[in-house]
Amino acid sequence: MNYGRIYNFAAGPATMPESVLEEARDEMMNYRGCGMSVMEMSHRSKMFQQIADEAEADLRELMGIPDNYKVLFIQGGATLQFSMIPMNLMKNGKAVYIETGTWSKKAIAEAKKVGEVIVAASSADKNYTYIPDCSDLDIPEDTDYVYICENETIHGLTWQKLPNTKGHVLVSDQSSMFLSRPCNVSDYGMIYGGVQKNIGPAGMSIVIIREDLIRDDLKDLPVYMQYATHAGADSMYNTPNCWCIYICGKVFKYLKSIGGLEAMNERNVAKAKILYDFLDSSKLFRGTVEKADRSLMNVPFVTDSAELDAEVVAYTKAAGFENLKGHRSVGGLRASIYNAMPAEGVQALVDCLKKFEAERA
Ligand SMILES: *Cc1c(COP(=O)(O)O)cnc(C)c1O
Repeated sequence: MNYGRIYNFAAGPATMPESVLEEARDEMMNYRGCGMSVMEMSHRSKMFQQIADEAEADLRELMGIPDNYKVLFIQGGATLQFSMIPMNLMKNGKAVYIETGTWSKKAIAEAKKVGEVIVAASSADKNYTYIPDCSDLDIPEDTDYVYICENETIHGLTWQKLPNTKGHVLVSDQSSMFLSRPCNVSDYGMIYGGVQKNIGPAGMSIVIIREDLIRDDLKDLPVYMQYATHAGADSMYNTPNCWCIYICGKVFKYLKSIGGLEAMNERNVAKAKILYDFLDSSKLFRGTVEKADRSLMNVPFVTDSAELDAEVVAYTKAAGFENLKGHRSVGGLRASIYNAMPAEGVQALVDCLKKFEAERA
């Protein structure tokens, strides 16, 4: 069934797998015979505990998360993590950050409130259109961690190769690429992301953190800001975002059903190729990012003028494609083509852009 749904290219909250929405619909009035919906259920009930346990187990299986990592569901989105990370992980008060765009800049600004931040590499010189070479960074011995934003949602950049941290802990913001491809969790000390880009509804982050990084000597830190609080209470220190956990759990099962992250990655590569091939062959449109660092999730592109960009946004909107306007900080256009965007949606968008181009020629 179509329900009159459109192709939604929003950067987040973003499109969801239809089968997940349908299941949630079917369970809305009476979840599996318990006589109520999940949003009416006690988070201390057996029924909800099972939902949360299954969600964690399925995520662990999908990503192959080793036993010495905790999985935490924490409210406050990815933005709260910009603060929690330095508050919890800066033991020596020093961290290295790589600046690749708006989201890493925001993380840097918060970390500076807590300790010393060394920006060891940046692509600000070219308006964040590439990932800087991080194979031989100058990293002080007493650095607590090295921080990256692994997919810059606004600028459309992805790290293809992780930085050489010279043995230091790597912390990664995966918000807009979470579960888009296989990930070797043990390369990181901590991976986190807001889930509303590539997984579920807004309002929660998933934090995957190595147990030895969780400190119990931070008694002066507000209790909610300590990873130890959330880890010690299995993410139920207070009422968690039950609805979000429930829907994320369904998305994990959906990903397992299509063959896991390898299969998801193959689909994402094929899907992004449709759009990038078009941009590379077009005379009117072009991608804004260095080819080697292009994101499979967020595809920014432009014409030669801001006026024409605005016309394209209006044209695609009229044809039923929503949210193609680039972020207000960079302009142009951006198609976010997360896991749940079908290849047909990208093909239909390309057909529409081709039509616009032909009309202009
Ligand atoms: C959206 C986004 C954030 C912020 O997420 P919130 O959940 O809105 O706080 C942080 N980092 C990246 C890479 C994002 O795409």
